[in-house]
Parts: sequence; C-alpha cells; structure tokens
Amino acid sequence: MTFEEFDVPTSHCPKCSSANDRASTESRTAPRAGDVSVCACCGEILEYDQRLRLIPISDGKRAAAQAHGLWPQILRYQAAAKRCKARREN
Ligand SMILES: [Zn+2]
Repeated sequence: MTFEEFDVPTSHCPKCSSANDRASTESRTAPRAGDVSVCACCGEILEYDQRLRLIPISDGKRAAAQAHGLWPQILRYQAAAKRCKARREN
C-alpha cells in the first residue's frame, strides 16, 4: 500500500485539538471538500469542509461512505491511528 502526502491548510481536530497540516492518501489525489479523513492523533472520523478544514463528519457523509462500501477501510485507518495513540501514551 503506497500513500502520498499532501499539504493542507492547518486546522485543528474538533475532538483532540491536534493541529493537522498534512494528509496521507492512497488515492494519490489531494484532499477535496467533502472527503472523509481520520485524525492521525486520536482516530476521530472527520471530513474536510469547503476550505479544507477538518470538521465532524456529517450524518449524510457517514451514510454515503457506508453505502459505497468505504466504511471498513475508514475503520481500519481509525484503528491504526488509535494503535499509534496508545503506543505514544505508553
Ligand atoms: Zn484528533
């Protein structure tokens, strides 16, 4: 699995307040408004707003990701972020 990294405007995770200014994607395309993201610091599932700031995922976006079969992949990213967080705290 190859990831590509992109700069994004600095924003703060609405759950843990960590600053995020990079995005890693498998799709090799820069994040766009409405894309789903996972906070690398706490694992919160988020989405990008029109200015590429991280906001809580909307119910509609969550339902769309589930309907399109993307949810298992999102949960794997979330689990990886939570494992990293647990390692940092130990
Ligand atoms: Zn977070």
